[in-house]
Amino acid sequence: MRSPDFFATAMKRIAIIGAGPIGLEAAIAAMDGGFEVEIFERGKVADAVRQWGHVKMFSPFGMNSTARGRERLERSGASLPESNELLTGAEFRERYLLSLARSLPPDVLHEDTAVLAIGRSGVLKGDHIGESVRGNTRFRMLTRNATGDERVVNADVILDCTGTYTQPNGLGDGGIPAPGEGAARDRIFYGIPDFIGRDGKRFAGRRVLVVGAGHSGATAVTGLVELGSAETHWLLRRDRALPSEEIPDDPLPERSRLAAKSNRLVQEGRVTLHRAASIESIANLNGALPVRIATPNDEYSLVIDEIIVATGFRPDLMLARELQVQTCWATEGTYPLAASLLGEAGADCLKTPAFGAEMLMHPEPNYFTLGMKSYGRAPNFLLRTGHEQIETVLDWLSEKESSTITITSRSTR
Ligand SMILES: Cc1cc2nc3c(=O)[nH]c(=O)nc-3n(C[C@H](O)[C@H](O)[C@H](O)COP(=O)(O)OP(=O)(O)OC[C@H]3O[C@@H](n4cnc5c(N)ncnc54)[C@H](O)[C@@H]3O)c2cc1C
Repeated sequence: MRSPDFFATAMKRIAIIGAGPIGLEAAIAAMDGGFEVEIFERGKVADAVRQWGHVKMFSPFGMNSTARGRERLERSGASLPESNELLTGAEFRERYLLSLARSLPPDVLHEDTAVLAIGRSGVLKGDHIGESVRGNTRFRMLTRNATGDERVVNADVILDCTGTYTQPNGLGDGGIPAPGEGAARDRIFYGIPDFIGRDGKRFAGRRVLVVGAGHSGATAVTGLVELGSAETHWLLRRDRALPSEEIPDDPLPERSRLAAKSNRLVQEGRVTLHRAASIESIANLNGALPVRIATPNDEYSLVIDEIIVATGFRPDLMLARELQVQTCWATEGTYPLAASLLGEAGADCLKTPAFGAEMLMHPEPNYFTLGMKSYGRAPNFLLRTGHEQIETVLDWLSEKESSTITITSRSTR
């Protein structure tokens, strides 16, 4: 139980880190809730979405946006996509997220401003272990803008919406980098290439190995075949005859179409599957990449030209290192939420367990991780879940804010 002291500090000022889809929605929701808001973005608005802008989203626009956001833009006369439209990341950014950002009052959004570290004024990580009294001092964040200027920004509440997209997982066995991975970096693509745009030339007519199952692996494999790669190989750590899990009566038709198509390419022999396999090493020999592959019964070399890594992403845990943050040892997601998600483990991200604000809390008072980062390495985050997280946390903060006002006014009577 939290001590009454905990409620004695009014929490007016919320700093949001990351202007992705969740940071932006959190900003407008927090402003509607009467909080002072500032949002800090390392690059440009929705920078991660911009990077995978060529990829078609599997959930429709209605699920990727909030009623709050749509109403806000409609009030200003914007014309929005239809609720059932399947947009690319670039379309989602241009037709919705950039408009949301433009709707923010001046001085709320700071682009090209990275948050480098978060601490608390006068309190070290090891002080007041797990005690709510830590919440009596303000957060201080070190920020750096594009010209290299550094400054400290104070806040009462932090919503860390920094996602995971810029932190890809390693390629080798056990999740660590494979020997030679660093040296071959210019021939390894982390994420999903833009085959019909800027990356087409790089992969057309080449021998390519895609590493990793899931939606990203399936997208990369189908994209390569459509582009016309010379050979397409698909390496999975798991032992599955069909790489993509097809969910019966999948309510997301785009996801279902992609899973079926990628499996069909394997069945038709247009994609060579390496299952229950891991990468032992990568060499760079006269421009070709001989890759050593191990399976339970065999070890062999495969010579290819390029590697696409679709093994997922992990959160940046350094950012909040000076705070008392509790993440799951398996997924690096926020601990209570991660434990609940592991209990529900399954392929269908639509089946998210119900959660309250306590699921999103760390021992550090008033520091919340929202959006993709709250799931850590777990790949099944949906924007719709992030929208629920925002409302849950802001309701909790508003309730706390009103308790503060009641306590303060009682004590000053
Ligand atoms: C290819 C792809 C397709 C997807 N398709 C769907 C889909 O169809 N439907 C769906 O529901 N979900 C989808 N997702 C999953 C998820 O919804 C998205 O990843 C979504 O972008 C997550 O939003 P976010 O705001 O949590 O994080 P992000 O979009 O990653 O945004 C984080 C932001 O924080 C910024 N940032 C990071 N570190 C710092 C720092 N230190 N200081 C300041 N700023 C920082 C980044 O530049 C970025 O702009 C997809 C994911 C991928 C990769």
